[in-house]
Amino acid sequence: MQFVVAANWKMYKSPREAVEYLKGFLPKAENLPQGRKVIFFAPAIDLWVVQELLRNTEIGWGAQNCYFSEEGAFTGETSPKVLNEIGAPYTLVGHSERRTLFNETDEHTSKKVQALHKVGITPMLCVGETLQEREAGKTEEVIRRQLHIGLSLRDPAKEVIIAYEPVWAIGTGKVASTAQAVEAHVVLRDELRKIGEEQLARSPILYGGSVKPDNAPELAAQKEINGFLVGGASLKVDSFLELATVKR
Ligand code: PEP
Repeated sequence: MQFVVAANWKMYKSPREAVEYLKGFLPKAENLPQGRKVIFFAPAIDLWVVQELLRNTEIGWGAQNCYFSEEGAFTGETSPKVLNEIGAPYTLVGHSERRTLFNETDEHTSKKVQALHKVGITPMLCVGETLQEREAGKTEEVIRRQLHIGLSLRDPAKEVIIAYEPVWAIGTGKVASTAQAVEAHVVLRDELRKIGEEQLARSPILYGGSVKPDNAPELAAQKEINGFLVGGASLKVDSFLELATVKR
């Protein structure tokens, strides 16, 4: 299985900054370890320049969100059809900032997965419990539910990538312990198996939540963890490059 290292730039980087970053990153990323996939999730307005720079490379890219309709009166939203037209191979779905700040529900995530599959874009579905849910002993129930509903309308013939991101570890500097991360990955792999398709059993499950060059090697050494989704540490070329090339 590929080891996927994905950057979530959130609402950082103008198109000019994105170009500057990628021009610095690309020459240094020529010799990525075998089986490594790097993906950039950029702000929607940057995607045109990002695709121009990444078009002829092995590096993936995509949006941080989309709507689930093809077109219509949905002011401010981005359509999967348009993402497909500019060639985006991937798109993030259900990031916890979308869920908590913009009221995105499991039902929204499932429709987005469906809409992306319809146009041939691979969704990266994010799941993860809040601190309150963890403290109430509900982690397993929550992540199983988010995964189950999130994938309920998928096209079984198409790929999906899963990112386990405990909400309390995102942007807080508080990384999950290796044991906590592995435990959640085991639950998610089990749920994927129950959902059933052989193709799902091959879906990478990434860990996200304050991944940094100093905690990445131990997490990357766990066979259950198939990659990282990285926010803060993806904003600088050198720290993201360290993560993109981390030893397994
Ligand atoms: C994220 O935005 O998905 C994320 C994991 O952020 P950070 O690495 O900053 O915690």
